[in-house]
Amino acid sequence: MTSAIQDKVLSTAQKVKVDLWLQTPKTALINGQWSTRVDGIATEAKDPATGRVIGRFVDSTAGDVDTAVKAARHAFSSWKKVPRRERASMLNKIANVIREHSAELATLEALNNGKLYREAYVDDLPESADVFDYYAGWVDKFYAENCPVDEGFLNYTRHEPLGVCGLIVPWNFPLLLAMWKIAPALAMGNTVVVKPSEYTSMSLIRAVELIIEADILPQGVLNLVLGGAEAGRALCEHPGVDKISFTGSTQTGKRIVQSAGVSNLKLLGLELGGKSANIVFDDVPDLQFAIARSFQAMFSHKGEKCSEPTRLFVQKKHYETFVSALKDLADKVICGNQFDERAEQGAQCHQAHFDKIMHYIDLGNKAGFRLVAGGKQDVAGTNSEGLFVRPTIFADVDNNHAIAKEEIFGPVLVVTPFSTEEEVIAMANDTIYGLAAGFWTSDVSRAHRVAAELDAGMVFINRYGCYDFASPFGGSKQSGWGKEMAVHSLHSYTKLKSVWVKI
Ligand code: NAD
Repeated sequence: MTSAIQDKVLSTAQKVKVDLWLQTPKTALINGQWSTRVDGIATEAKDPATGRVIGRFVDSTAGDVDTAVKAARHAFSSWKKVPRRERASMLNKIANVIREHSAELATLEALNNGKLYREAYVDDLPESADVFDYYAGWVDKFYAENCPVDEGFLNYTRHEPLGVCGLIVPWNFPLLLAMWKIAPALAMGNTVVVKPSEYTSMSLIRAVELIIEADILPQGVLNLVLGGAEAGRALCEHPGVDKISFTGSTQTGKRIVQSAGVSNLKLLGLELGGKSANIVFDDVPDLQFAIARSFQAMFSHKGEKCSEPTRLFVQKKHYETFVSALKDLADKVICGNQFDERAEQGAQCHQAHFDKIMHYIDLGNKAGFRLVAGGKQDVAGTNSEGLFVRPTIFADVDNNHAIAKEEIFGPVLVVTPFSTEEEVIAMANDTIYGLAAGFWTSDVSRAHRVAAELDAGMVFINRYGCYDFASPFGGSKQSGWGKEMAVHSLHSYTKLKSVWVKI
């Protein structure tokens, strides 16, 4: 059944394209052309649900990165002068190209990442297109200031494009997170060199190829390089890059800060890891909704989401009810092939990541915490090659233990009881991360008090996980620097100039 559904999805034109990935290794896309260099280190992409090889790639060298940056630099001088509404119309066209190819791009995303096709098609693809329309709308509405200085002078500001932006993304939302960066960067008149994760480059390669084929942008405005740390470092250390916008782990974020420091002190936007708290007070307004939503926010996309609520704190009154309801939900989850319509959780993205998750499960077991659900690989029917991990819940966890402190980035939830508001705020904030936090209460005063006390970039009250292009996205502490989305992305892709005129 599983393979029948997969064949059905792949038996369309998409199947032909997927086969093509195996024939010719994909290379960088610079100045609208595939790089002809095929002598670099070749990487293979595997379908994490089956272990089969699905694509081959040539990692970009420092030389390729240099060529891409020079192409972007060359294109910048004319791209920044393209009239704003013309630029907006190009962004609208990109949105349409992505929309028209949603099924193919979602197929590649699911195949390469392991996430359910349904999640890729319903969650990731619409947003990947819509974000271009959103920023197209901003292009001629991002006003600067007329500053109220002393009489006899006019002082105004200008938002000017930065130049060449290097955009580096992780493997959990390979297409969407790149589009979150490409759209505002282009909208503000920058040119781009984007690098996907070495584990999941297929959907972004195809999206950039589609945009180039549609002949929407001038040559060199949007370039793509491939590979992992080496290519990423070359981009971050390149003196011709004006900004790096990075989404990935805190560990890599720190390396990028060093790269910027040893090169040209380029601007940085850093969206990093998280270990977010979800707090259920005794006066939770709708217990059943809180249980269902807490489960969904934690385990959708197989727990590979930066802002997911991985630490659950439940006040004593509902503690056991909550834990036992979550166990029931977890035990029912069907792990399976990304194209199987019955599957509710796909495979973890790659082997090293799977091993890391199993390592943390092992630590939880060794520490003697109460394993309520999961805690093992799921063979998803008969498939022992697939990287499936059962939704795992540890209860009665000490907030100081590694499984409560370190980012696991998989379907592993830790639950801890608490007695008082002060106690739980202290535990929630006792982390190096500050990406998101949520809580559930019927008390309006407490709602605003706790929202102010939680040290996180995003706080969700009575519904964990709300996202909208109009609202800033990003964390505090070691979860990163700066915000994405809304007007904040526009500020982050421009520099502010103050102009004085003596009247
Ligand atoms: P990662 O840091 O290992 O890799 C991210 C990207 O950086 C990849 O493209 C990788 O090739 C590149 N890279 C690696 N070393 C580099 C270097 N020295 N210089 C430049 N680039 C380099 O992260 P990952 O494992 O791909 O993704 C998971 C992490 O991403 C988690 O920590 C997760 O929380 C985080 N994440 C954060 C957000 C957010 O918005 N805050 C969103 C999604 C994922």
